[in-house]
Amino acid sequence: MTPSPFLNQIQFNKSNTQVRGRFAPSPSGPLHFGSLYAALGSYLHAKANNGLWFVRIEDIDTTRVQAEARQQILDALFAFGMEWDVDTQTQSQLRQSDDGCLTQTQRLARYQQCFDYLANKSMLYGCECTRKEIKASGSSYAGQCRHKQLTLNDHPVRIKQLSPVLSFNDLHFGHQIAPGSLSKEDYLIKRRDGLFSYQLAVVVDDIDQGITHVVRGSDIMPLTARQLSLYHEFEVTAPQFFHLPVISTAVGQKLSKQNHAPAININNPRPELLKALQLLGLPVEDHSKLPHFSCSEILDWAIEHVDFKRLPTSQEIII
Ligand code: GLU
Repeated sequence: MTPSPFLNQIQFNKSNTQVRGRFAPSPSGPLHFGSLYAALGSYLHAKANNGLWFVRIEDIDTTRVQAEARQQILDALFAFGMEWDVDTQTQSQLRQSDDGCLTQTQRLARYQQCFDYLANKSMLYGCECTRKEIKASGSSYAGQCRHKQLTLNDHPVRIKQLSPVLSFNDLHFGHQIAPGSLSKEDYLIKRRDGLFSYQLAVVVDDIDQGITHVVRGSDIMPLTARQLSLYHEFEVTAPQFFHLPVISTAVGQKLSKQNHAPAININNPRPELLKALQLLGLPVEDHSKLPHFSCSEILDWAIEHVDFKRLPTSQEIII
């Protein structure tokens, strides 16, 4: 049997008692108000628990990367006073130009190692279905290629969902029934264009960084079940998941790069910072002096006063 690629990390996790959170933006555009809200939520969660907070650049899908976005995102976090910690677990992989942030495109060999581990467990198989064929056979893929013995090298690669996760607990939204179509589908681990999937990369990264709490937007909540089943295959205890409401302009219209959400204003950060904190349930309006504080003073105040029980319970906040 191939040894687990996570042996050292499992040891680390067992002895670790500190909260370790992260913000994991995809550099497909500058930070907008919705991503600022998610960044702040994870930052405050980590810092209010005396934890560490990392920023990880999720550029695995190189087809969506915009060259200048990485720097724009880091500049924005910095302007809003959110300073990130450097993870000693993965620090040796950082180049000087990484600004202390783990970057997925630097970790392809690591993903390959974890991919090989799954392949050796006979969890993976090549698939020759086109998107069109899958659509024609129903909305999700039904395992047509499981027994065809197609090679992993020349095909998109799927993972067998032998023990899908059908429900899980979210720290904010409570018991979640995972959408069956998503959880049971043998989803792609390696894409047709040869890129590793977000699912594989995000789970490997969260394990390697010893993340204890994944705090992120509820738009990703349905995918959590797939990620949990991957933790199961890797035989690693999963972190806790804490999803935040997403910010929308109208019902179902989440602020996103695809919807051309405007970039946050890094030259005048305080109004948007205070607004985001208010939407995280902080009593901003009770403190008239806050608008005169610097961003890092505002954040210090927020770390002291944040109470996640006051976080809105809807999955979407319309602004
Ligand atoms: N990279 C993802 C995004 O920008 C976030 C993934 C995550 O937080 O797990 O939407």
